[in-house]
Amino acid sequence: MFEHLRYEVQRHRWLARTDVPVAPWTTLRIGGIAPWVLWPRDLEEAVAILETLTRQDIPWRVLGGGSNVLVPDTGSLPWVIVKLDRLRQVRTVDGVVQAGAGVPAPKLCMWAARRGLGGLEFMSGIPGQVGGLVWMNAGAFGRSVADVLAAAWVWEPGLATVVQVLPASAEFGYRKSPFQARRSVILQAAFRVEAQPPEAIRAVLQEMKRYRLQTQPLQDRSAGCAFKNPTDGPGSAGQLIERVGLKGYRIGGAMISPKHANFIVNTGSAAWSDVVRLIEYARARVWEQLHVWLEPEIEIWHGSPPRGTNPPIVGGPDGSGGASPCGS
Ligand SMILES: Cc1cc2nc3c(=O)[nH]c(=O)nc-3n(C[C@H](O)[C@H](O)[C@H](O)COP(=O)(O)OP(=O)(O)OC[C@H]3O[C@@H](n4cnc5c(N)ncnc54)[C@H](O)[C@@H]3O)c2cc1C
Repeated sequence: MFEHLRYEVQRHRWLARTDVPVAPWTTLRIGGIAPWVLWPRDLEEAVAILETLTRQDIPWRVLGGGSNVLVPDTGSLPWVIVKLDRLRQVRTVDGVVQAGAGVPAPKLCMWAARRGLGGLEFMSGIPGQVGGLVWMNAGAFGRSVADVLAAAWVWEPGLATVVQVLPASAEFGYRKSPFQARRSVILQAAFRVEAQPPEAIRAVLQEMKRYRLQTQPLQDRSAGCAFKNPTDGPGSAGQLIERVGLKGYRIGGAMISPKHANFIVNTGSAAWSDVVRLIEYARARVWEQLHVWLEPEIEIWHGSPPRGTNPPIVGGPDGSGGASPCGS
């Protein structure tokens, strides 16, 4: 399957490696071996790579900061991994901050804070990259990417070029962006900011950091919140899991954090299957005892089938199967 890819990599001198362990690129530190990893150096090269992979019918996935994914750990992965880490330019253009998809969100916030540009503080403790944050419509402290996104530059299957899109805020939801349904790859984004004294921005950043350190197990390996908060439920996902007595509950090397019940942490040797089983278990207990059906926020990648058609992880309350957040 990769004969043609090898030929294209050599022909275009793309930056690529074969047989690369993916676990170190995920915050859970779980994942198998990618047969190929490609690092486009600019937007045009990204388009050429994505087009080639799609045209050749080679399964691929984009991995950002790896802070919201659970990657299978049984040997060789069925996808080529595209890493956008090299798309790292940040600049201001006509009053908005424009950043490459590979810019880590905390770095973007610090960059803006130093220049007295406020509005992005909520991103400061989210350990993903710009592309991943936009794709997820990540958010914290009552704000989300949709509130500040001015434009995104994307590639979509079938397009031979980068397209600038200006999605309406109505197209976004809780951890939902229009890019998910369109299978867009975000290559660059622009964010609205407002002039503020740098010391005022820094004070907000400090306060947010203090709050996270106090409430979240940041020293442990996790992928952030395991479940979305129910929109009209009797409490947050963490409160519900705590209420059914699962704080500290373990399956294999995976544990519900004693500090924050919505964080599943890798205690050192957790397998993909430990985390999946713990997600299923917590979800089933909350459903049985509190009749709330939790939706995973962590994106679970299944080894097979290869792209976008992952089965649900467990049956839903009506026995029909819960909606899986998987697939890009
Ligand atoms: C300690 C901790 C705290 C967290 N706190 C928060 C929080 O407060 N709020 C919150 O919303 N999230 C939080 N998260 C979760 C996570 O950081 C966010 O979901 C983040 O947006 C994921 O970005 P990423 O770059 O790591 O994406 P990844 O985990 O690498 O990927 C997630 C999905 O996005 C896709 N993707 C990534 N980049 C692109 C791209 N350029 N184009 C298209 N698709 C792409 C991937 O294919 C995958 O489907 C936390 C995680 C941790 C570990």
